[in-house]
Amino acid sequence: MYAERVLSGMRPSGRLHLGHYHGVLKNWVKLQEEYPCMFFVADWHALTTHYDTPEVIEQNVWNMLIDWLAAGVDPAQATLFIQSRVPEHAELHLLLSMMTPLGWLERVPTWKEQQEKIEGRDLSTYGFLGYPLLQSADILIYRADKVPVGEDQVPHVEITREIARRFNHLYGREPGFEDKAKDAVRKLGAKRARLYHELRTRFQQEGDEDALEQAKALLDETQNLSLGDRERLYGYLEGSGKMIFVEPEALLTPAGRMPGLDGQKMSKSYGNTINLREDAESVTRKVRTMQTDPARMRRTDPGEPERCPVWQLHAIYSDESTLGWVQDGCRKAGIGCLECKQPVLEAILKEQEGLHEGAQPYLDDPSLVRSIMADGCERARKLAQDTMRDVREAMGLDYG
Ligand code: SF4
Repeated sequence: MYAERVLSGMRPSGRLHLGHYHGVLKNWVKLQEEYPCMFFVADWHALTTHYDTPEVIEQNVWNMLIDWLAAGVDPAQATLFIQSRVPEHAELHLLLSMMTPLGWLERVPTWKEQQEKIEGRDLSTYGFLGYPLLQSADILIYRADKVPVGEDQVPHVEITREIARRFNHLYGREPGFEDKAKDAVRKLGAKRARLYHELRTRFQQEGDEDALEQAKALLDETQNLSLGDRERLYGYLEGSGKMIFVEPEALLTPAGRMPGLDGQKMSKSYGNTINLREDAESVTRKVRTMQTDPARMRRTDPGEPERCPVWQLHAIYSDESTLGWVQDGCRKAGIGCLECKQPVLEAILKEQEGLHEGAQPYLDDPSLVRSIMADGCERARKLAQDTMRDVREAMGLDYG
């Protein structure tokens, strides 16, 4: 069994805003403490939609990395890298494209939706159709078993699982696999080998999933197996192949929807964002001019927080007592809207202060970010190269 690993990436197609901070980065900071994590800048993915404006990408890459670091993503805990610095992603994408049925890609719901939704760009390109496959290559090349995604990205993880399964089925047969697997079973010792056979038979003949899980647990707790034998024994359980790729699981991220300044989801395309590391003056102006309950025309009119975008920000930033103060004060016209916005504004400014402070060392010395990246890219590349050796060998491309 390969090691646990989380993989997640972000496109450098614009400045990051508080939606990214609350929806993704805070989750990454939590994950990096729980698992070995790899976080990457998906610059090739940015080109699938921004192929005609590549100049925006470079600056966004470095700004985005500084945002990550400022938000607490820690290069000592997680591997941070840039996709295009690990060209093996492209090689795997190409090789996977040979065996991926076109219909699988055409069925990915976001392909059609995005083509219709993103205006002003011609997305009838091969790169755009193939981007879920590039994502699959990103995941499979690190044998990542966990991919944090929102609900809408689950089909991308699903297609990755199907591709992994198809690849393992087509190419996971090494010469003499059966004999090598039997040798590996003997290495388990008589008692464990008997149990392994029993569980394998129960799974293969009766489809008993519990037996499969028990057999996997048995392998997990067996110490003295080489990585190759372990993989063979995993493959032998489910069929007669070696597992080259791991089927990843979607790690559903909490649905936290960061409201924008107008109450819709915060998004660059709605023009309702507050960026990470935005200056205090601009944040203050944006919050002070936010829409409120449209029925509250005058200070003396009672309002209804449920109809007000400011209330949604309170729900993110305020404690119970402030929430109570808002509800009561708004409904009884006891507080004015500017007064009501003040605690939210202060909380956002405080959050921004932390982000500015976190970013400062990297702004003072940009070579720090360059060296974090160089180190992360090297680590990522080593892992990718290991996988590609197996892939080339399995596909008959290892010419010695
Ligand atoms: S008092 Fe607060 S919640 Fe009520 S309308 Fe004004 S800003 Fe919105």
